[in-house]
Amino acid sequence: MAKFHSLTVSNIRKETDDCVSISFNIPDNLKEEFRFIQGQYVTLKMNIEGEELRRSYSLCSSPIAENDFRIASKKVSNGKVSNFLFERLKVGDSLEVMTPMGNFYSKLDPSHSKNYLLFAGGSGITPVFSIIKTVLNVEKDSTIKLFFGNKDESSVIFKEALNDLEKKHSGRFGVYHIFEKPQKPYSPDLTGLLTREKTEELLSKHVEMDKPQECFICGPLPMMNNIKDTLEKFQVPKESIHIEYFTTVLEDIARAEKVEIQNNIPETISNVTVILDGSETTFKIKSTGKSILDTCIDNDLDVPFACKGAVCCTCKAKIISGKVTMDMNYALTSHEVTMGYILTCQSHPQSENVTVSYDEI
Ligand SMILES: Cc1cc2nc3c(=O)[nH]c(=O)nc-3n(C[C@H](O)[C@H](O)[C@H](O)COP(=O)(O)OP(=O)(O)OC[C@H]3O[C@@H](n4cnc5c(N)ncnc54)[C@H](O)[C@@H]3O)c2cc1C
Repeated sequence: MAKFHSLTVSNIRKETDDCVSISFNIPDNLKEEFRFIQGQYVTLKMNIEGEELRRSYSLCSSPIAENDFRIASKKVSNGKVSNFLFERLKVGDSLEVMTPMGNFYSKLDPSHSKNYLLFAGGSGITPVFSIIKTVLNVEKDSTIKLFFGNKDESSVIFKEALNDLEKKHSGRFGVYHIFEKPQKPYSPDLTGLLTREKTEELLSKHVEMDKPQECFICGPLPMMNNIKDTLEKFQVPKESIHIEYFTTVLEDIARAEKVEIQNNIPETISNVTVILDGSETTFKIKSTGKSILDTCIDNDLDVPFACKGAVCCTCKAKIISGKVTMDMNYALTSHEVTMGYILTCQSHPQSENVTVSYDEI
């Protein structure tokens, strides 16, 4: 089961005027638990002015090319945790960090010779940067193209490191910076927002779209939707398009891939048994009421969770028996859903008896 551990901050680096990257010291006895895959994230649990807050941050370091366990956080306006991390966190402080999770990756193999097409916007570069460094290190015959959208030149996170990688791996790795409002005269082709039209233009000009592509997208929601739609227009298969959401997708509910429509389901009351750390607890939960996760939290079970909005998979559990529906799912793969995994923040029982386990992840 995913667990929080107290880790010491070993380094803080200012990456841009509003972004810091933070490295943690992982003691030898936790090295195995904190092993991660490129593109994964951790959840921080913090107490800020008496309020317990949980936020997820993707790892920007590579598990293979580097010996570093580093996240990056960009300040959001009035954001509680991101402003704390930027302004108040110090080297030597301890933070509660959950073991790594997430599905924003594809399996790497030294024998692959793939074409990776990466799209990042703003802080969305964080998991993408980990993917770039790892692919370059592991798959010597694969190529990567990164389309990176930012407001202007000064807001580019990891700019120098990306430049260095591009020089070092010239021919295998290329970066296209797209600026909304460039500070200096800049190519009109690369100026503006990543709309559907702009994405189509860039892909037609810079990518051989008739070759198979493994695509990763992380950034603001409209940008991600535009890119996904354009890739689909170019016939890129769904399973080759990987998306990481940083914010809950409330404004996008209409596009939600509902696992099962809940309309017209009669209200029933189920016995839901929750297995956590080897112990079983049973609750009565309404099929149309609170989620399984919220019921656990209300009853003081120390279950793992973070966003509560179906975009991270921190609250993942496995159905052992019975039937459950999810309202939304932006985080589990279809394979995981087939295997019986659920996001408990979105889950409601639909059979008389249900057993779910947080221990089988
Ligand atoms: C799987 C996952 C991975 C993530 N990885 C990263 C990462 O690598 N780097 C990173 O900087 N963030 C990342 N995030 C986002 C991060 O978890 C927080 O949501 C973000 O730092 C804002 O938290 P806050 O407490 O500062 O803001 P809050 O106090 O929660 O929110 C303040 C205001 O900002 C808005 N807001 C919240 N998040 C964002 C956002 N991302 N962009 C714009 N407006 C927002 C809210 O709607 C609210 O109005 C990730 C999120 C997820 C789910």
